[in-house]
Amino acid sequence: MYQLAGVLLVMVSLVFSLGTRADTSELVLNGTLTQGSLIRAQLPPGSKVQLNGETLQQNAQGKFVFGFDRSASLEHTLSWQLPDGGESRRTLTLTERDYVTQRIDGLDQKMVTPPEAVLKRIRKDSVNVAKARASTSDLDAVFTGFIWPAAGPITGVYGSQRILNGKPSRPHYGVDVGAPTGTDVVAPASGVVTLADDLYYSGNTIVLDHGMGVFSTFLHLDSMTVALGDTLTQGEKLGEIGATGRATGAHLDWRINLHKQRLDPALLVPPRQ
Ligand SMILES: [Zn+2]
Repeated sequence: MYQLAGVLLVMVSLVFSLGTRADTSELVLNGTLTQGSLIRAQLPPGSKVQLNGETLQQNAQGKFVFGFDRSASLEHTLSWQLPDGGESRRTLTLTERDYVTQRIDGLDQKMVTPPEAVLKRIRKDSVNVAKARASTSDLDAVFTGFIWPAAGPITGVYGSQRILNGKPSRPHYGVDVGAPTGTDVVAPASGVVTLADDLYYSGNTIVLDHGMGVFSTFLHLDSMTVALGDTLTQGEKLGEIGATGRATGAHLDWRINLHKQRLDPALLVPPRQ
């Protein structure tokens, strides 16, 4: 049920060239070309790059990132201009994911509407989480290798979805690690804490900025051992697994965002059953 589509490092050489340039081997891509994937890439410093016509943020070394939604279309165009004016582009073709779908019929259709005070809190939580993922720091951590934030079996995967009485529910966007309350959670890559708060749905929640708009989020923590603004190095403890918020049991729900885009954390780390 756990899938890794392809290799983690893809070196792209001459594929498609426009204008006068013949050599496009300056493009380095690191990532799996599939739906839900974060791609880390580099061009010579001073280049400009666009994905499907949208300009991407680049750091001083010419490094940049981009991502593909859970149900992204399969053809995309990366185009760039080098400091010497040379222009190139390349078509990126994604593999299609096959997500876990579970149909549950005959459910008692009881709609539970939370009281106004709770709704207010839920709205405030989502504004705060959006703010925590709005930073555009150019931390280099996002370009390093990621490690799993906790030991334990995978009990939930990115993209999975339940169809309740024929109605598709919101897909699951995290990867769940099932482990007892008190199990250490560590930083999968270095970063800065942009949120450490108790939220209605996700309980004790930490958001970690890895740079270039890429964030880890850790949900349902039993305890948080870091605070807003703390800088963490890879492997440093940030809290412990728990079941806070609306969780059915102790587990870590780890998410990866590129700002508002929800990506698959499992594609960033070595495979695990
Ligand atoms: Zn989850």
